[in-house]
Amino acid sequence: MARVNANYRKLRAGYLFPEIRRRTTAFLADHPGARVMRLGIGDTTEPLTPTVVAGLRRAVDALADPATYTGYGAEQGEVPLREALAARYAGHGASIELDEIFISDGAKPDSANIQSIFDAASVVAVQDPAYPVYVDSAVIGGRTGAGTDAGYEGMVYMPCTEENGFFPALPEGKVDLIYLCSPNNPTGAVATKEQLATFVEYARKTGAVIIFDAAYAAYISDPDLPRTIFEVDGAKECALEINSFSKEAGFTGVRLGWTVVPKALTCEDAEPGELNRLWFRRQTTMFNEASNIVQQGGLAALSEQGRKECRGLVAYYMANAKTIKDGLDAIGIKTFGGVNAPYIWMKTPNDMSSWDFFDKLLNETHVVGTPGSGFGPNGEGYFRLSAFGHADDIRVAVDSIQQNLNL
Ligand SMILES: *Cc1c(COP(=O)(O)O)cnc(C)c1O
Repeated sequence: MARVNANYRKLRAGYLFPEIRRRTTAFLADHPGARVMRLGIGDTTEPLTPTVVAGLRRAVDALADPATYTGYGAEQGEVPLREALAARYAGHGASIELDEIFISDGAKPDSANIQSIFDAASVVAVQDPAYPVYVDSAVIGGRTGAGTDAGYEGMVYMPCTEENGFFPALPEGKVDLIYLCSPNNPTGAVATKEQLATFVEYARKTGAVIIFDAAYAAYISDPDLPRTIFEVDGAKECALEINSFSKEAGFTGVRLGWTVVPKALTCEDAEPGELNRLWFRRQTTMFNEASNIVQQGGLAALSEQGRKECRGLVAYYMANAKTIKDGLDAIGIKTFGGVNAPYIWMKTPNDMSSWDFFDKLLNETHVVGTPGSGFGPNGEGYFRLSAFGHADDIRVAVDSIQQNLNL
């Protein structure tokens, strides 16, 4: 008789966004005609840029012509696309070879699936708060015990607090896989090169592997902050990196990402090269390459003109971030992030719980945000606002907070 993967029954998240929806729907039922403004989404809202659209169209046209039609593509992704990404790493002082880059359909699947090349008993460490995918995929893979209010048993939570600038101290005790996300979702904190170097040194010493999520790298404007963990000496021996076109080029619905698994990467029982080969084996077995149309869109995004246009997209969202941050600062709310990242992480006023503040914000200002407690135990007492949205809508939402929030 078939049995379910009982690890799914341990999952407690999946609760966050449905609960936001439930409370918003209930509010609207009680307040017919009210206009609810969303500052909670982690999804892009502005259209693809002209150069990207032209690239996608060219690829569609090529598929319509018998002379240029192609089927399955190169196993790790189209070579010109990987060349363009390697050139970008080179621009950050990191030398990455083409067979170290694996094009995928996004950073979310890669950040979950990557665990499968590691031992099922691996101890997983995450920043707390964190992007929920890292935790949930560890749960589904059987790498944790039961969920409690303090988190899942067996999972190592690395607190990210105001005191440590939202970058964690090194984990205590043995951990095997360490997720780091910078710029961070949800806190908007960006790790310095020195901070990343402490984890690289730790991982090399202990044989742990760092899974670095750089999905928001394009939002960094400070020239001193690292865009990739491979800017840190020795990182190729202990880290792999996941990235995406979603947030930098508006590909959240288009779907395109990549993962760099350096050949130098090792762990306790793997020689250099083996982890790279295992990820190749995993992807060629369970995934059949990103869409060829989409890869041409990604290549167009990396052209000189494409990059210029995507910088414009990022600048648009970062202007929103400034609107939100300045607006909250002006009424005395303590905010973090929002400078090199599209998320503003705010302390709830008067030490309210995240969900109590959610209700207050919705009722008084008609603005929907995301309770920090949904991202992990240390998110309690915080709240995430997102810079993704149309500038006019963001302005109206911030005005409403300024005028209607009773502090
Ligand atoms: C949005 C986001 C991603 C991107 O995921 P895709 O699957 O590429 O759309 C990855 N990591 C974090 C932390 C994110 O917020």
